[in-house]
Amino acid sequence: MRMRNKPWAKEFIEQHPEIIIQNPENYKGKWNELFGNNHPLHIEVGSGKGQFIVGMAQANPEINYIGIELYDKVIVKALEKALEAGSPPNLRLLKINAEELEKFFKKNEVQRIYLNFSDPWPKKRHAKRRLTHERFLKIYESILVDEGEIHFKTDNRGLFEYSLVSMSQYGMVLQYVSLDLHANEPEDNIRTEYEEKFSAMGQPIYRLEAKFPK
Ligand code: SAM
Repeated sequence: MRMRNKPWAKEFIEQHPEIIIQNPENYKGKWNELFGNNHPLHIEVGSGKGQFIVGMAQANPEINYIGIELYDKVIVKALEKALEAGSPPNLRLLKINAEELEKFFKKNEVQRIYLNFSDPWPKKRHAKRRLTHERFLKIYESILVDEGEIHFKTDNRGLFEYSLVSMSQYGMVLQYVSLDLHANEPEDNIRTEYEEKFSAMGQPIYRLEAKFPK
């Protein structure tokens, strides 16, 4: 993702601790207390500019959502969208690295993880950085409930093929696979920024749902 320098981003983020949680390690095992209910928790890893997670939070008020993003300059766009949407009470954002998810979430705390248009890292020597590499699947499993789900969308055929194999080898069960999501787009599909961009270029969108074993 190309980014211009935005020196104001950090300050703007600090002005909105009600949405971008400061010291998120304090909430490990306690996210339901923060949301004030026992609704399921779904997280998006690599939420970018936030169109998906904000849209999901608005469409599904009975589910709690947390968007996770690595960069200030990107998450600030998601913050703007959340504010424009009236700060949905079931939405929070975290500026953290997915490698550290276990610092912030306990086993059984998360019901579902969304991965949308994750960076493909096409070179073999960078395979470990792919968010569907075994080392990330282990991390996801350690915070999800038993039979917790991963829902994954991408335009990148290579990453999709890799992910099918990686998840199968890990022992996950595939529940849904589409090689052209938009050919028969479900009414409740919320498009991400990348999804709109690649779809407009005529690229098929791949999607899968998989669950971890018991
Ligand atoms: N999901 C958005 C979409 O579909 O429009 C953004 C896709 S963009 C290609 C991938 C995003 O994942 C980037 O914003 C990047 O900063 C973020 N990302 C990559 N690796 C990450 C990690 N280890 N932890 C958190 N976010 C990460």
